[in-house]
Order: sequence, then structure tokens, then C-alpha cells
Amino acid sequence: MALKPTLATRRTCTGCMACVDSCAHSALESYMARDGHLYVRWNRTDCTGCGACSRTCPVITPHKPEPGKPGIRAAWANDERLRMKSSSGGVFAALAVQTLAEGGVVFGAAMKGTQVVHRAVERIDDLEALQGSKYQQGDLSGVYRKVRKYLREGRAVLFSGVPCQVAGLYGMLGGKRPDNLLAVDLVCSGFPSLLPLQSFLKHEPYGRVETLTYRDKRDGWYDDAKQRISSQDLTLYPEDGTPVKLYSGLVYSAFGSHLTNRSSCLNCPFARAHRLADLTLADYWGDRDYPDQHYAGLSAVVVHSRKGLEAISKADLTVHPSTWAKFLHSCYRMVCGRHPFIRLHPGRWLRTFAFTRGSYALQQHLFYVKPMTLLTFPYRAWGGFLFRMSGMWIDRVVKHAINNLDT
Ligand SMILES: Cc1cc2nc3c(=O)[nH]c(=O)nc-3n(C[C@H](O)[C@H](O)[C@H](O)COP(=O)(O)OP(=O)(O)OC[C@H]3O[C@@H](n4cnc5c(N)ncnc54)[C@H](O)[C@@H]3O)c2cc1C
Ligand code: SF4
Ligand code: SF4
Ligand code: SF4
Repeated sequence: MALKPTLATRRTCTGCMACVDSCAHSALESYMARDGHLYVRWNRTDCTGCGACSRTCPVITPHKPEPGKPGIRAAWANDERLRMKSSSGGVFAALAVQTLAEGGVVFGAAMKGTQVVHRAVERIDDLEALQGSKYQQGDLSGVYRKVRKYLREGRAVLFSGVPCQVAGLYGMLGGKRPDNLLAVDLVCSGFPSLLPLQSFLKHEPYGRVETLTYRDKRDGWYDDAKQRISSQDLTLYPEDGTPVKLYSGLVYSAFGSHLTNRSSCLNCPFARAHRLADLTLADYWGDRDYPDQHYAGLSAVVVHSRKGLEAISKADLTVHPSTWAKFLHSCYRMVCGRHPFIRLHPGRWLRTFAFTRGSYALQQHLFYVKPMTLLTFPYRAWGGFLFRMSGMWIDRVVKHAINNLDT
């Protein structure tokens, strides 16, 4: 009987699911654990001990990016309609249009009802489904195999996902960088547990919720972090038509607070200036140079490879050089994957308790109601201290990165 293969642990597993696709014997499968995150289950009886999964897992077998120094740009799509459907400057959509125009196929995250799925698009008319950030982890079991199949057939492929998913794809490809693959990752602040979303869907009084939009640009990008839901026959903002702002909905609060994030996201090994992907995309929140572009949205693009550079010059984009100092001050997550003190925050286990055993009232209370009383003072003071410590740690990492990268 085969010994258990070496895979990432519960603390380090990113849920990328590349190991599942690497196993030719179906001995691995994904499942959702009690904490509301996706992990991998091993089936001893089907395992032959071949080790393919360990060689694929990006945590166990990391691969190196293309040699060179990353470059930073400010960019936006020239097609305003395309850009308004995207979360930031629409760079992903412009790259996708270019790939599709050349007969290629584009992989990205889409909503299927209230769940995120990764799917392939081959027609420009279907591209909208892949646009926009979805703050929910999807299960990519089966997707890497499809990408590999297209690549082997010689089709041009644009694969877009969070950094651990892009690393999982390179794991599936044995670290090779096929010429017909353009890999695009994101600045990623991590995935919250799926439990708050499930609770929201179960309890919110909007009838059957058909789908969710995590970002909505109808009032412009600078003010766009709103959650919108579609129920059976109407599309509405929660709370009687009042747009819900960041941190004020249960689902957004779970994302914004980081307190239910999967363990790997609190120490993400993929948050580095120079990455495996050809390009990294982010919101350029800290920009002061292009204020007239803020309504429609502005992206920061980090170029990691020659192919990435060619792709942004071919696509229908406006691109300007920028500096790391300008970018990193509003986007530490590009270079700092650690939130070292959040593990010690009592709100982390309190939320797990509330979402597994507590009432909906308690769950909401933990996110919305923050009274400073004698009873809550120690909790809030300790939480505040931990976030301040995290902030100081992040400042140090950012300063160090700017000194290295801008020289
Ligand atoms: C979980 C998450 C956290 C993020 N955190 C930050 C952050 O802290 N700072 C920052 O500057 N930017 C962050 N981003 C990225 C940012 O929101 C935009 O996606 C990015 O700027 C690209 O914008 P765009 O307009 O070019 O493309 P868009 O059309 O907005 O989207 C680009 C691509 O994002 C991918 N994507 C969306 N949701 C998911 C998902 N659930 N899983 C995998 N891929 C997905 C899709 O495949 C799509 O192709 C985050 C994105 C996600 C998904
Ligand atoms: S060692 Fe081989 S057979 Fe066993 S789970 Fe890993 S890939 Fe599958
Ligand atoms: S390949 Fe991905 S899902 Fe599998 S163990 Fe490694 S990190 Fe976890
Ligand atoms: S923070 Fe890191 S580990 Fe978590 S989803 Fe993003 S890339 Fe993956």
C-alpha cells in the first residue's frame, strides 16, 4: 500500500487543486472543510505512490520565474465599454480580446449562480462573464488538464487566476513555459471562508439570490467596492436600494477583514515582486498622475517576462511607465504575503465559532456592531494592537522592496 505523498499541509495548502489534476489515478479530490475552505482529500486505495502530485504542488515544488527584473506600468483599456465592466482598468479584458482575435482561448473566473467557477471562453460575446473580481475561491479541479490539452493542441491560451493558481498551472506543466501560454495573475489579498457567503445566502431576505456581483462601477471606480445581488426577478442593491459600501455587507466584511482568510493567505509565498506569471494586474488605488482616469478605473500592470511586455504592447491599451514607490504605497500585497499577527487575533476563532455554531445574529454582530464597553475593551484593544503590529511589519517590507526595485 502506498505511503501518503508529500503535499502542502492544512496550514500551507492554497486550495489551487493542481495536485488533483496531476493524479492519473483519481486518488485526490477536493472538499470543503468545516472552516469553509477548500482542501484536498487523499484516497489511499487508489494511490500508486507515483509522486506526480508532490512534483506538481507549487508549495512543495516551487518553480522559478523568467530571469530579469519586473517593471511597473499604469494602464487602462482604450475601449471604455469593456473597461466599465472590469474591476479596475480593464487590462485583462483587452488582453483577452487580443487573444480571442488571434483564435486563442481565455481561461478565467466566472459566476455560476452564486459560486465561482473557472471556465474557458472562445468568443468575445462571452468574455463579460470572466470580467470583474470575485472575492470567493473557486474549485479548479479539472481546469488545469483542460488548459494543458489546449496548449498541447497548439492553441494560444490566456490563463488568468490568483497567483497560487498560476503557480499550480506551471506545476502541471512541469515548470515549462510554453510559447503559446500567456499567464496573468493578480495582486491577491486572499480568500475569505465560504461560510459567511453561505450564511448570507441562507438568511438575507431577498428571495432566492441568483447571482452576486462583488464589484460594481456604476458610480465610478474610485467608489466601486459595492456588492450587488440578483434575485429571481429583480436586481437590487441590498438595504432597500442603498448601495452597500465596502465593509458593510457580511460577504464584503469577510473579505475586507481578512479574519476568515484561509491559513495560506496569511503567509502567501506567491506575493513577490517578480513572479511566474507573465503579467500581474492590480487596482492602481494610489495613483496621483491620472486623476481623469479614475472614474472608469486604472490598473497597475507588473511585467515579468518578454512575452508579457509584447502582450501589453499588442493589446488595445494605454500604457505609461510608473514607479514602485508610487505603486507599493497603496498595494503592499504585491510584495508582502504575510499578515503575521492576524493568526493571533481572537476574532479569527470567534468567527469560526459563530459561523459553525452561532446564530445569524451573532455572526452579524461580530462584523457590524463594535461597541467599546468594559467587556469588549480587551478584545478590541488586542485586535487593534495586532493590526498596528501587522501595519508596521508591512511598512518595513514595502520600504525594503522600494529600495531594491526602484534603483
Ligand atoms: C480575491 C482577490 C483579491 C484581490 N485583491 C487585490 C488587492 O488587494 N489589491 C489590488 O490592487 N487588486 C486586488 N485584486 C485584483 C483586482 O481586483 C483586479 O482583478 C485587477 O486589478 C484586474 O483588474 P482588470 O480590470 O484588469 O480585470 P477584471 O476584469 O476585473 O478581472 C481580471 C481577472 O480576475 C480573475 N478573477 C476574478 N475573480 C477571481 C477568483 N475568485 N479567482 C481567480 N481569479 C479571479 C478573472 O479570471 C478575471 O479574468 C484582487 C482580486 C481577487 C480576485
Ligand atoms: S502519489 Fe501519484 S497516485 Fe498517489 S495521489 Fe499522488 S499523483 Fe495520485
Ligand atoms: S497542489 Fe494546491 S491544493 Fe494540492 S496540496 Fe498543493 S497547494 Fe494544496
Ligand atoms: S493570498 Fe496567496 S495563497 Fe491565498 S489565494 Fe491569494 S495567491 Fe493563493
